[in-house]
Amino acid sequence: MSRSHRLLLWAAATDRTFELRTFGGRRMLVGKCIHCRRKLAIDLRGSVVPVATVEHIVPKTHGGTDALDNLAVACRRCNSTKGVRVDPRRADDPVLQEVIATLRARRAERMREPPPELHLPELDVRPPR
Ligand SMILES: [Zn+2]
Repeated sequence: MSRSHRLLLWAAATDRTFELRTFGGRRMLVGKCIHCRRKLAIDLRGSVVPVATVEHIVPKTHGGTDALDNLAVACRRCNSTKGVRVDPRRADDPVLQEVIATLRARRAERMREPPPELHLPELDVRPPR
C-alpha cells in the first residue's frame, strides 16, 4: 500500500464524518470532502477510488508536514483547485492564510480517535493527543 494511501486512510479514520460501510463486499470509509462536503469513499484495502485525495492543509511547499492535524481528505477537484489557486501564494498572502485557518478549524472540529475496529496500516506519524 502506498504511503499516500496510508496517509489517506489515517486522515479519514481520524475524521468524524467518515463511517465504515460495506459495498459489494468491499469495506470502505465513507465521508465528506473537507472543502465542498461532497461524499467520498475510500477502499480500506488500498485500491484507489480516484476521487479521494490527501489534502495538506499547510502545503508541503510552505513547510506543511504529514502530521495528522495537517492532513484532510479532499476530492481531487478541490485539492487541485487549492493546489493551483492557493498553495503557490506567498506565505504572508491573506488568501493563503485564510484558507489555512478555515481548514485547520474544520479539521479540528472533525478530529477523533480512529475507530477501534479499524486495523490501520503502520504510519510513522503519531496521532495528535
Ligand atoms: Zn471537494
